[in-house]
Amino acid sequence: MDFELSANGRAWRDRTQAFFDAHLLPRNREWIEHVVRRGEPAPFMPELQAKARAQGLWNIGLPELAADEPGTRLSNLEYAGCCEILGRLAWAPEALNCQAPDVPNMITLQNCANPEQKRQWLAPLLEARTRSCFAMTEPDVASSDATNIATAIERQGGDYVINGRKWFSTGAAHPRCTQIMLMGVTGKALDKSTDRTRRHSIVMVPMDAPGVRLVREIRWMGNRDHVAPIGEIEFKDVRVPVGNLLGKEGDGFKIAQIRLGPARVHHCMRQIGLAGLMIELMLARAAERKAFGRMVIEYDTVQRWVAESRVELEQAKLLTLKCAWLLDRQGHHGAWREVSLVKVAVPNMLQRVADRAIQVFGAMGGTDDAPIHYALSYARLMRIGDGPDEVHLRQIFKMETPPAWTIDGSPYIAYPADG
Ligand SMILES: Cc1cc2nc3c(=O)[nH]c(=O)nc-3n(C[C@H](O)[C@H](O)[C@H](O)COP(=O)(O)OP(=O)(O)OC[C@H]3O[C@@H](n4cnc5c(N)ncnc54)[C@H](O)[C@@H]3O)c2cc1C
Repeated sequence: MDFELSANGRAWRDRTQAFFDAHLLPRNREWIEHVVRRGEPAPFMPELQAKARAQGLWNIGLPELAADEPGTRLSNLEYAGCCEILGRLAWAPEALNCQAPDVPNMITLQNCANPEQKRQWLAPLLEARTRSCFAMTEPDVASSDATNIATAIERQGGDYVINGRKWFSTGAAHPRCTQIMLMGVTGKALDKSTDRTRRHSIVMVPMDAPGVRLVREIRWMGNRDHVAPIGEIEFKDVRVPVGNLLGKEGDGFKIAQIRLGPARVHHCMRQIGLAGLMIELMLARAAERKAFGRMVIEYDTVQRWVAESRVELEQAKLLTLKCAWLLDRQGHHGAWREVSLVKVAVPNMLQRVADRAIQVFGAMGGTDDAPIHYALSYARLMRIGDGPDEVHLRQIFKMETPPAWTIDGSPYIAYPADG
């Protein structure tokens, strides 16, 4: 395994860092003022996007761009270096059009859409002319078992008619979201004995189709997702042409897996960057404050928290790089195990690191003056979203190979001779 970045990867990482330093970080206070405090879009985002695009920093999370599609064509490993930099600010990816959930939706369309569907749905996303969401989770069923998904997609002549309710559709409440990638059951017409993983399909639904209703915006842990506001959506007798089906009827699970591999790994890459920022915040804050006659940084406990955070961050980062490296070489099938490993390891690491950072900061750590609450709620989200920890741990356990020996027969076990 070799995680050394290629010359191309290093060049793009350096360009991303330079853009971050020159154009993104200096606007962060302004972004918070407009978006978080006043609840309005950042007026400078179009200008930043134009600047990024002019420098080639565009669609950097899409390794499989076609020749005529705009972007850098970085490998997953190369993207990891850039994503780590951008992960330090919640809103930075949007300036380079590599924000979730649009990137995994674009990857899905690249892999599963026909040319006409690509023209209709993918092209506007590649140009950042619109935004999208992925609607799988439903309020009425345990959605971590995706075979429970029950929204009906019934064929009627040349249309599909959709009835159901989705929630936690990240991005759906964004004012510019025009497209919903929806998973539902096309199996109503099929025999109930059909394999439970072959009953679902994915269709593209325009946000303004009659019968689609954004019921409300959902806040996670009391906070608004400012980059991709989360929605609950009702679908009542919504009609879309059969041409909106991605792949074939029954392909829903296969398509969702293509989407989920990169979606999970990109979140991990961003969280690695955020965890690095948490360590810097601990170091800076503890070096500035004195308690009981000593600088806070001089306390063993604080030094230990910083050091433990670094150990955990480096472990998680190596695992993330391994996962990106495998995705490049063997695609999502080859990286399946590592995607689950990293999906569990990274958010748990970030949660611990952010928790320590809040403690080192004192009360200010929990306010929205500092970014620690964002890191904590991002980590907490990622322990549930895209499959809860428990589901991934179960998968990881299933991939374990038991040894060929029994305990009694094992040469590793040595009972005393008279035992
Ligand atoms: C902020 C946020 C954003 C999200 N964005 C999206 C989105 O864009 N699109 C979308 O479709 N969904 C999204 N989700 C939904 C997310 O993917 C689901 O919440 C997740 O799959 C769990 O489904 P559930 O909430 O129905 O929990 P349930 O399925 O009811 O599970 C509840 C709990 O049961 C336990 N459990 C489940 N299975 C097992 C098992 N096999 N072994 C042991 N314990 C188990 C786990 O502890 C789990 O957390 C988002 C969620 C959050 C929090």
